[in-house]
Amino acid sequence: IDTGVDYTHPELVNNIWSNTDEIAGNGIDDDGNGYIDDIRGWDWVNNDNNPMDDHSHGTHVSGTITAQGNNSIGVAGVAWNVKIMPLKFLSSGGSGSTANAVLAVDYATANGANLTSNSWGGGAYSQTLYDAIARANANNIAFVAAAGNDGVNNDSSPHYPSSYDLPNIIAVAATDDDDLKASFSCWGPTSVDLAAPGVNILSTTPGNSYGTMSGTSMATPHVSGICALIRSVSPNIPVAQMKQVLMNSVDHIASMQGLVVSNGR
Ligand code: CA
Repeated sequence: IDTGVDYTHPELVNNIWSNTDEIAGNGIDDDGNGYIDDIRGWDWVNNDNNPMDDHSHGTHVSGTITAQGNNSIGVAGVAWNVKIMPLKFLSSGGSGSTANAVLAVDYATANGANLTSNSWGGGAYSQTLYDAIARANANNIAFVAAAGNDGVNNDSSPHYPSSYDLPNIIAVAATDDDDLKASFSCWGPTSVDLAAPGVNILSTTPGNSYGTMSGTSMATPHVSGICALIRSVSPNIPVAQMKQVLMNSVDHIASMQGLVVSNGR
């Protein structure tokens, strides 16, 4: 759930979800999910069936999750055989509405996602968004979320959606290449779960290109990829148990002691 995905990128083209219940281009909502000709997700910014990335953020996080491995080019994602369902609610300028975020979360829930990767946030508390994530939880769908880049303690300054108190939310802080907390990363001894690499991350960008980006946005898809790997070996694992596997298998690095629930990266 992001700015869309360049689903033609050579590293991603084989790992894009296809809505097999929809017939392309016939102008009919074949599967009755409320969206016409949504063969690979949806774009709520432009209200059409083409979730192409016109920013770069969504393509970058997608590459961290699943850039193709062992193909002798570019980079490799965490999980090489996932299917990305491109759900675009962030504009070419990187902003979006909470109302459209709710629609994107509900689309993922209705169309069989295992998890959503949410490298976004900053809005006010929203009961409707909380309820949408709770519906995802009821359907055993993980909600992996960036802890935010304001460098503050989320326990006292909540960051949404990562700070909603729901069992399926996995809130992710960022570390650097020295295993230190990224200076920009939010933390929270009770509200942020774990850390992942998020500084100078090389990944895919639109137009068959690559680039480095930094942020808890870049840490989040590392965790999403691991969740996908867990589901690949244990497809029916309950989301709470999947989260526990993650929490129990972090590396306990010094910089994260007392800053996140798991004390680790
Ligand atoms: Ca449809």
